[in-house]
Amino acid sequence: MILRLCQHSFHIYDLLLFSGALTILVYILLPHRFALRYDYIDKEHIEEALLSATVSNISSQQAIDCSYKEVLADSTFVYDAAHRAAILRGQEIRLGGEYQPDECRARFSTAIIVPYRDRQEQLVAFLNYMHNYLRLQQIHYRIFVVEQSDRKPFNRAMLFNIGAKVAESYGYPCLILHDVDLMPLNSGQIYACTVQPRHMSSALDSWRFHLPYRTLFGGVVAISTSQFTMINGMSNLYHGWGGEDDDLYERLKVVGIEICRFDPAYSEYTMLKHKHAIPNENRMALLRSASLRMHTDGLNSLVYKEVERRMHSLFTHILVET
Ligand code: UDP
Ligand code: MN
Repeated sequence: MILRLCQHSFHIYDLLLFSGALTILVYILLPHRFALRYDYIDKEHIEEALLSATVSNISSQQAIDCSYKEVLADSTFVYDAAHRAAILRGQEIRLGGEYQPDECRARFSTAIIVPYRDRQEQLVAFLNYMHNYLRLQQIHYRIFVVEQSDRKPFNRAMLFNIGAKVAESYGYPCLILHDVDLMPLNSGQIYACTVQPRHMSSALDSWRFHLPYRTLFGGVVAISTSQFTMINGMSNLYHGWGGEDDDLYERLKVVGIEICRFDPAYSEYTMLKHKHAIPNENRMALLRSASLRMHTDGLNSLVYKEVERRMHSLFTHILVET
């Protein structure tokens, strides 16, 4: 009798172990079974979702508008060695990291804003690849690197606010807020704004190409300058890692602006390796008051000192003290 009981419990234990192992195996081999489903704009509808707008003084001798059909038709993998190694035919990039196609008139002007401190190797990799990537898209763009010069905890959101103000002063109607360590893998993730603010890096390799939660609005996002201004930009109060992107999402929610994403096949990104930062312990408390703070904490309360503005061959460098 005892023996039979032992045998019985052994079977159950065995079964549990087996099903556990099977689950882990399926999870590893078929990650998409566990993917969070989310709404996205499929490839047929991307073009109509774009917000066509350029800087007013865009100088182009060309009478015809660029066509984006080809750029959007396919989302091929372009993160190859040739596009990463060095700038391919860099002559046409203007001082300050600005480019516009000269064979047709671009329909989009985009300011790419990169918050930055102490990541030189990543910045070099980013600039090389991004210029090669972006010039395939026939858009007008300029890369702004906003560097925090002081040693206070890193303030990503405040650097975005600064970058947005600078970009606005140059007339850019569209902002792409971009981590320095993220790079798009598919050619079709066009660096233009959509009518709705867009979460671009929704299929990140370090998240096994999954979206961890639906309201995630960090990494790489596109938002029109007027929408960013409408929500008073981002909070200036998030010192250190975490929460500021969720705070941005809350602001959009308050004014009733919904976000969008493209088809995951257009939204794959890779993140360069780095150590995890220590999270800001205050972030949850701050996040709870996001909607209360939004009208007093942001672009209208931004205080900083611009230490230097320098035009480099591949980017505009804004050095600031926060
Ligand atoms: N960042 C930086 N220096 C730092 C911390 C952050 O330049 O010391 C910038 C950089 O653009 C980076 C972004 O802020 O990609 C987000 O930080 P991090 O990559 O540490 O965040 P995580 O990937 O862990 O969300
Ligand atoms: Mn990162």
